Amino acid sequence: MQSVQRVFKVASRQAPIVQRTVQQRFNTTVASTVVKPKRSRWKTVKTVAAVGATGFVGLTFYGMYYHRHPTENPIPADPNKKTVVILGSGWASTSLLKSIDTNLYNVVIVSPRNYFLFTPLLPSCTVGTIDIRSLVEPIRFITRHKPNEVKVYEAECTDVDPEKKVITIVDNSEIKGESATSTIPYDYLVIGIGAQSQTFGIKGVEEYGCFLKEVWDAQKIRTKLMDCIETAAFPGQTPEEIERLLHMVVVGGGPTGIEYAAELHDFLVEDLTHWYPELAGKVKITLVEAMPNVLPAFSKQLIDYTESTFKEQHISILTKTAVKEVRAKEIIVQKGQDGEKEAIPYGLLVWATGNTTRPLIKKLMARYPDKQTIRRGLAVDDWLRMEGSQDIYVMGDASATKYAPTAQVAAQQGKYLARVFAQLHDVEQYEAEVEKAKTEEEKAKKMRRLQKAQNIKPFHYSHQGSLCYIGSDKAIADLPFGPGNLASGGVATFAFWRSAYISNLFSARNKWLVITDWTKKAFWGRDISRE
Ligand code: FAD
Ligand code: NAD
Repeated sequence: MQSVQRVFKVASRQAPIVQRTVQQRFNTTVASTVVKPKRSRWKTVKTVAAVGATGFVGLTFYGMYYHRHPTENPIPADPNKKTVVILGSGWASTSLLKSIDTNLYNVVIVSPRNYFLFTPLLPSCTVGTIDIRSLVEPIRFITRHKPNEVKVYEAECTDVDPEKKVITIVDNSEIKGESATSTIPYDYLVIGIGAQSQTFGIKGVEEYGCFLKEVWDAQKIRTKLMDCIETAAFPGQTPEEIERLLHMVVVGGGPTGIEYAAELHDFLVEDLTHWYPELAGKVKITLVEAMPNVLPAFSKQLIDYTESTFKEQHISILTKTAVKEVRAKEIIVQKGQDGEKEAIPYGLLVWATGNTTRPLIKKLMARYPDKQTIRRGLAVDDWLRMEGSQDIYVMGDASATKYAPTAQVAAQQGKYLARVFAQLHDVEQYEAEVEKAKTEEEKAKKMRRLQKAQNIKPFHYSHQGSLCYIGSDKAIADLPFGPGNLASGGVATFAFWRSAYISNLFSARNKWLVITDWTKKAFWGRDISRE
């Protein structure tokens, strides 16, 4: 009671309005049964927690059940329906595949990898924070839940013949059968083959650098990283050689380079210091960026925050410095336009300087020299139809639009195209009904429906914000807020970053696996064995 009175006194000195409220509350507390409101609040909390827990358990079990029970007898392909061939199994294609109505079309999917990869968490796999298998979703886990049969071919599309409306596919995997090349006819072709890592033709990048785009890139980086460390521990190594082997260089200060450097830093601080105490202090991380600052797409205060956080983490950033050549053990860099060239020795080199078009896209561009004049991707109209064609659509990083090449854009484009195809189906149906109409009145009614279906809305992108992990459990976020932008950075943003990515993971299975990996890392640390 005394303590309550003391609180009341302090409150009354500080704020007269609060005083009345506290007094009323105090009086009530004394007069009636004191704990009653508290008890009912506790009851509410318990009920909410119980409902939440039941919901979570229920959803998890439903997720498991759904996952283990694909469609038993999917309806086979119907020759009377049109065929949509989708190229790729990345963000754009998987999003389209999930949303497309297979009752309306026969769907075929062609991709050299038989899975979807959740790229935003790929940098975490380079140091073992997350297991690579937790980020992939086999494409058949999606297609086999469709009511109609979807054909999946693990192959690379090497050519498109827009006149004959056929594509050529090749089995590029290690094991090949007697048939390794084939052709597939299409009514609509959707290209979602993404892009490949950019080298700008710089000598030595392909040979000595590691990209960070695919599953095998992350695996290669992890292997090489541990190899550098173990080699540095080999007896008789000179101090200069140890310094070189333990110098990890990242080229490109875009989000890929930043996130990789951040993950590497965490691995060094949280794990390597324990298991390689004699070497960990000698590991150096350097990020090389040609522009005056890193993360040009983020707001100024977040760029400054990232650069100062990197400084605290002892990650050196060399801005206005372009890599001109890559050699087996050193890179040649140039500061500014006319600066002196300098050699920087390295042990591991991660190359993250953005995207360039894949060979198939270049081939298609060459077929339409007048219409396809943008080098960074296939030009499309506002409905994502490839310029120069009526039945080829392009989405994601393979397309050249006004949007940045991101997963967000690709996923929204895939979903949008599923709606376009549903509407195109309606158009055809109403056209046939208009033809068959017996009276003028009926014809006018069908015409109105047809016109409505023909009014297909152009693609509209809704930006949900940009996130980037910067190390030491800190992230940055540029979020759309009203007419402006909300920039935030720090540990709370890191919690938001994690929850945003968990909620964006494609399946309940992936969510479960990633949460397990994070928990495993928190308790046991990361695995340091070389794969
Ligand atoms: P992809 O996802 O690259 O998929 C392309 C698909 O096409 C693949 O399945 C590939 O195997 C297949 N393919 C390739 N060639 C052929 C062929 N000839 N025939 C048939 N199939 C083919 N974006 C964000 O918005 N947020 C992020 O946090 C984010 N983090 C990222 C982190 C990393 C490390 C990287 C590399 C990228 C990140 N991105 C992020 C960008 C995002 O991953 C891409 O913009 C997105 O993957 C583009 O989707 P897509 O479907 O166009 O291509
Ligand atoms: P990027 O194009 O965003 O950045 C590449 C950087 O490399 C540029 O800043 C460029 O100036 C620099 N560069 C180019 N050549 C160089 C050279 N010779 N020497 C030194 N620096 C050089 O590439 P990215 O980071 O791979 O991202 C690709 C796309 O994926 C972007 O659209 C990005 O937004 C998206 N992405 C997003 C996230 C995220 O949101 N967290 C993460 C990764 C990628």
